[in-house]
Amino acid sequence: MKTIGILGIQGAIEEHEAMLRKIGCKTLRVATAKDLGKINGIILPGGESTSIGKQLEWSGLMNPLRQALSAGLPVFGTCAGMILLAKEIEGKKSQNRIGLMDITVKRNAYGSQLDSFVTDLNVSGFPEPLPAVFIRAPRIESCGEEVEILASYKSHPVLVRERNMLAASFHPELTDCAELHRYFAFQLSGSL
Ligand code: GLN
Repeated sequence: MKTIGILGIQGAIEEHEAMLRKIGCKTLRVATAKDLGKINGIILPGGESTSIGKQLEWSGLMNPLRQALSAGLPVFGTCAGMILLAKEIEGKKSQNRIGLMDITVKRNAYGSQLDSFVTDLNVSGFPEPLPAVFIRAPRIESCGEEVEILASYKSHPVLVRERNMLAASFHPELTDCAELHRYFAFQLSGSL
């Protein structure tokens, strides 16, 4: 059975756990470097990227996590989790982050909490559109050549993959559709 870790600092942790259990995975809340050795992949949940980034630094987990991801540990960053993976954040050069994915993101570019919305996305490789919840979501402004765009919304990429790294502007865990979790846990984490 696959064990998928969820970075256990802050944000939509329980919702990801529920999705992963629904598709038959074990889950582990990742709090220390030791936990990284016990998992087949890790989800970085949505929440507040500034506080998650700071706590990753303070706790000493930032470097071990960066090393594990560089070495190929599959990762799925959703919303704030995507911001943590991005190499560039527009206007925020100094924000603490993992910074491994060749994307530039703009935080809160889809508006405030009140502008939150749900939409259906056509995702490459999936026969049916998948539901996506956008909450103070980051927009991907540009991607490097190695980055594969799996879904776009209004001509901006919103779901991208670079090797072992998958990132979404939105929250798949707040829908009743577990297809992206299934893709992450069984295809991406299984193929590497
Ligand atoms: N706006 C948040 C940030 O910048 C992300 C919001 C979310 O994860 N839903 O970190």
